[in-house]
Amino acid sequence: MYLDENALEEMERSALIDLIKDMGAREEELLAELAQRDKNEKKTRREIQHLQRAVDLEKLIVEAKANQEAVRTFAQKERDKYLRLLLVSSPNTILLLDKTGRIAYCTDVFLQRAGFSDHTEVRGYTLKEVLYKCAEEEWAEKIDGVLRQAVDTGRPLKYEASFDIGNSGYLHNYILHFSPMVNDDGGHEGVMVLFHDVTAIEKARKEAEQASLAKSVFLSNMSHEMRTPMNAIIGMTAIGKAAGGIERKDYAFGKIEDASTHLLGVINDILDMSKIEANKLELSPDLFGFEKMLQKVINVINFRVEEKHQNFTVHIDRQIPRSFVGDDQRLAQVITNLLSNAVKFTPEQGSVRLDTHFIKEDDGLCTIQIEVTDTGIGINEEQKARLFTPFQQAEDSTSRKFGGTGLGLAISRRIVEMMGGKIWIESELGRGSTFAFTVQMKRGTEEPCSLLSPEVNWKNIRLLAVDDAPEILEYFAEIARGLGVLCDTALSGEEAVRLIERNGAYDICFVDWKMPGMDGIELSRRIKKQGMGNSVVIMISATEWSVIEDDAKRAGVDKFLQKPLFPSALVDCINECMGAGPLIEEGGREQTDDFSGYRILMAEDVEINREIVTALLEPTKLAIDCAVNGVETVSMFSAAPSAYDMIFMDVQMPEMDGYEATRRIRAWEAEQRAPGENREVPEGAREFPEETPGEPPRQIPIVAMTANVFREDIEKCLAAGMNDHVGKPLDFNEVLEKLRKYLPKR
Ligand code: ADP
Repeated sequence: MYLDENALEEMERSALIDLIKDMGAREEELLAELAQRDKNEKKTRREIQHLQRAVDLEKLIVEAKANQEAVRTFAQKERDKYLRLLLVSSPNTILLLDKTGRIAYCTDVFLQRAGFSDHTEVRGYTLKEVLYKCAEEEWAEKIDGVLRQAVDTGRPLKYEASFDIGNSGYLHNYILHFSPMVNDDGGHEGVMVLFHDVTAIEKARKEAEQASLAKSVFLSNMSHEMRTPMNAIIGMTAIGKAAGGIERKDYAFGKIEDASTHLLGVINDILDMSKIEANKLELSPDLFGFEKMLQKVINVINFRVEEKHQNFTVHIDRQIPRSFVGDDQRLAQVITNLLSNAVKFTPEQGSVRLDTHFIKEDDGLCTIQIEVTDTGIGINEEQKARLFTPFQQAEDSTSRKFGGTGLGLAISRRIVEMMGGKIWIESELGRGSTFAFTVQMKRGTEEPCSLLSPEVNWKNIRLLAVDDAPEILEYFAEIARGLGVLCDTALSGEEAVRLIERNGAYDICFVDWKMPGMDGIELSRRIKKQGMGNSVVIMISATEWSVIEDDAKRAGVDKFLQKPLFPSALVDCINECMGAGPLIEEGGREQTDDFSGYRILMAEDVEINREIVTALLEPTKLAIDCAVNGVETVSMFSAAPSAYDMIFMDVQMPEMDGYEATRRIRAWEAEQRAPGENREVPEGAREFPEETPGEPPRQIPIVAMTANVFREDIEKCLAAGMNDHVGKPLDFNEVLEKLRKYLPKR
């Protein structure tokens, strides 16, 4: 068949068109397929991404979980560590019991206290089993009972018990706490048992109660101690006023004086104690003579000794330096307290002895020991322990029977300790006591103890000491040995006579006044009047000379020595008797106490105080002008400075106090001395006294006269420009001393 070209062409074209169409359709299909695939791919990728993220998240979660677990384990370990530490180092006794009542844990304190060496000895055992091993069965049972109760009720319980864990020999006071332990689900997990040791708290509570009781007793004692002398003062004043005769008045005054002195002592004790409690007690060291200090103490004690007819002896170790640098008043206070206690607690006719010993000296610092021994009521062991504590007396009935504040020994202990020493007691009930203390003081610079005069040939001198007290004779012998003088001793008048008959007359005979058998007066008479040689007879006695004087003089006694005997007084006496006179004057000042021609100014706002000073000083013929406050004092003085020789200045006064008045007077004096300046001389004022060339400018002596007696008060007075201080209530002798010291010699 023949196809024309056109038809062919047409066929080809149409075929081509169809092909192209097909191709186009195919392309579209392909494109659509491609688009679909792309879409699918994107979806798949997204899905993969999601899947990836999920996987990552899962990983993170796993990691986080692992971390959380690690943290939990770490925290658990830490907690365990601290729990272990708590159990090891807790000062409390704690036991943790498990559900079955067996010990799971306990603090180390429990192990130590109960005497176990290891936890294995307690872990796994019941509390009762463990307590059986380390405490009394009775307590093991009791405590187990309370534990059961706590478990049964599921409630915490407390139980107080006093027992000994570990057989230490000491009872401890415990409060036991039983606390049931509950888990998160509210189930029973066991019991915590805590032993709270309240022994120390209990002791402190008891002590506080005792201290408070002691203070109440003290207050009531104090009230009694103050009211008793006050009662005497008021009562005796009434008696004195009503009394017709002078003797009765004198008697009342004497009693008033005693009661006032006693009252002052009580007040001083209380003040001292309050200073000690506030840690304000201080020492004022100064140079002082040891024997002089003792002499003052003994003068105070002597009359009480005499009242009770006691035998009082003093022994002074001759090695003790003559002087020291120390606080003599405080030292005297301690000795006075011990001596007055000894006298107070020793019955009539008993013995009291004061001993002093030199212990050692290091670089000029001397240690001396002082002992006061009595044959009195004594103190038992239990009471001894409390004696040096404030407000304590051996027993309450003591204060009722003997009076006293119970402060003296506490104050003494503080003073002694401040002086570098200690105080102690040896005593037996009913047999007497020895109170002893040591103190350290610097050796003073004074000359050594007076020695025998070189003018006398002492080798030929013979002494005889006669006394019924062997310790006095021993004392004589010791002093004589120290001096290198021969001294015989006799225990009675009869023995002395025999000695004289056998050995011939002695140069000096020391004769005790009171002796059984032949007394001192009779013996002196024999020595002097019956041709027993030319002896000097010296009477020795604790009794006042005035009591013996008439009889003694009639018997021919040459001299009197007051007991207790001091070595220096004895040596001076021997020197004097042999015509040599005392080598060292022991304060032998000629004193007339006649102050006529002197005028003083007294600043004092209280009328009765002005009256007292004026009246007391009347016999001395001293002229006294009075000012009633600081302002008046300054104006009276500056108006007539040369009229006055001295000022006694009260401190607390209205308008202007004593400090300010003193400052003004000192300023005024300085102004008057200033050269070339215009002096402001008030109207009617006299010229300021001329000064002697070469001498320090004269200042009027101003002595504080005040009831402010603490060290700080005295320092304040001195800082204000005053020269000195006397305390109120006034000691008249102290006032006289200040006058002697400050009134210019004429
Ligand atoms: P006070 O004597 O004022 O009561 P102290 O402190 O001086 O105070 O003494 C306390 C107590 O010690 C006294 O009350 C007494 O019980 C006892 N005491 C002190 N000295 C003696 C002594 N020598 N003999 C017996 N008891 C004494």
